[in-house]
This record gives sequence, C-alpha cells and structure tokens, in this order.
Amino acid sequence: MFGVVNAAGEGALLNPIQVAPHTYFVQGLPEIGSAQNQNFISNAGFVITPKGVVVVDALGSPVLAQKLIAEIRKKTVQKIVAVVVTHYHADHIYGLQEFKKIGAKIYAQNQGINYLASETAKQRLIASRVDFAPWVNAATRLVSADVWIDQSQLLNIGGVEFKITRVGPAHAPEDLMIYVPSEGVLFAGDLVFRGRIPFVANADSRGWLSALEEIERINPKIVIPGHGNYSNHPIEDIAFTRGYLRYLRQSMAQAAINLDPFDEAYQAADWSEYDGMPLFRAANRMNAYNVYLSIQAE
Ligand SMILES: [Zn+2]
Repeated sequence: MFGVVNAAGEGALLNPIQVAPHTYFVQGLPEIGSAQNQNFISNAGFVITPKGVVVVDALGSPVLAQKLIAEIRKKTVQKIVAVVVTHYHADHIYGLQEFKKIGAKIYAQNQGINYLASETAKQRLIASRVDFAPWVNAATRLVSADVWIDQSQLLNIGGVEFKITRVGPAHAPEDLMIYVPSEGVLFAGDLVFRGRIPFVANADSRGWLSALEEIERINPKIVIPGHGNYSNHPIEDIAFTRGYLRYLRQSMAQAAINLDPFDEAYQAADWSEYDGMPLFRAANRMNAYNVYLSIQAE
C-alpha cells in the first residue's frame, strides 16, 4: 500500500477517512519519519464549511501537503481558507508552505513564535533536509502563522464554529485543540496518541495530564488524535496516553527526587506493557529521561 517510493515518486498514499458529515482526516504511519514514507507519520484533518475548508495541521513535508490539497479538491470545490496548527513539531508543519501558496490563513498558538526563533527549529530543518530528502529540501522552509492565538477563541467560518483552546504547555508549549461542536469532533493534536508510543520530548507531562482532563470536560463524540486512528470512544481511548504518561512519571519520580541515576531507574522499571508497541525503541528511553529531568525541575 505504501512504503516504497516508486519511479514516479509517489511515496505515501493519503486516504481521507470521513468521521462526521463534513469532517475527514488522513492517518499518518506508526513509523519514524523517512524518505520512504515522505515523513507521513502524523495526522491531518479538514472540515468542509459552506464558505471554505478549514484544515488542521499541514503534515510532515510539502509533497504530503500537496497530496492532501489534491484529496480535498476531490471532495469539494470550496477553497481552503484556513489551516490551524495544533503545535509546531516538524511532522505537523513542513507542509505549511503549500497552504500558504494557495492563500490559506494560518492560525497557531503564540508560543510557536519562540519555536520558530529557536536554534532547535533551525537545526531540525537542516537535519530533516538530509533525513527526508528529496521531500524536505532547500526549498522547504518554516512558515509563521498569520494569526498568533494568545487566548482560547472562537473562529466562525461559513457558519461553522471552531472552538480553539489553548492547552499548552502540555505536549508542546504551543498546543492548541480545535473543537467543532456541530460535527462533534475534537482535533486533539498530540495530546492524544493511539497505536504507538507517544513522543514526549520536551513535554510538560503534568500540563499534558491536565489537558486530557480538559478533553474529558469537552466530552466530544469523536477525537482525531495527532497520531493513530480516530476515536468514537474518546474517554476510553485517551486512557492509553494518560496511562503511559502516568506510568512514566510514577516509574521515574522516586529516582528523580532522590537524584538516583536515571539508568538504574530505567532498568528497574517494568516496560512490558509498552515494549511491543511501535516506536518503543525509538522513543521510550528518551521519553523516560525527559520525564526524569522534568520531575527534577518541578
Ligand atoms: Zn506529532
């Protein structure tokens, strides 16, 4: 179905899945980003309104964004008017320039300004140009938002309400969630992972756990996570992300507080519930280390 970049350079296939009357999403692969998968490792979604299409997240390379735009055009003649960025992580933003080209307005949380100005963002892009060549290349750039969101707000497009909630720092400092009440759909960004080990990196695990409570308060019918399949039973399905974060905290807390070495705490923890999952080897140790350090900083 995917995986091999063929002679025509087609790479990853995007198949929009309809989850509500006007809402679709494409599901990224539970893999590490690569040239083969064109960095198609995260989800993106879109909502068709009578006055244009609102997209959530821009995928991990310009070519993927072009494919998403082509898929949207198969579903509607409406223009793509807005892209809301759930957070400024590479796999969600390297497609932004394609949406900018077609005149979409980009919305993101204002902590994203710090990310764009950071050395991390710059170095990450340099590395990605190598790792994801030719799909991420010298022409791929970081794109700033047109509207920086500093507090939760309501966006009304074509009579459809988008409740944009500031939830960071959680998974990232600049997390946003987007709830579309008329569709019963919440775009949770990377506050929710399914079917793989979450990427914790420099997350605020405490803030992240509170953000999950916020999702429960919203109580949406459907959650589209940043990674993995959509959920019809959000309360049950966010339990995986919560359980994982709690377990990281619980297994690292004592060592972190007592200043015991990380390695010993990591070895001593029982990872059997998680070690069979995709991305365990790539992410788990780093996740645990981050939580160990962040508990010391709390
Ligand atoms: Zn992500």
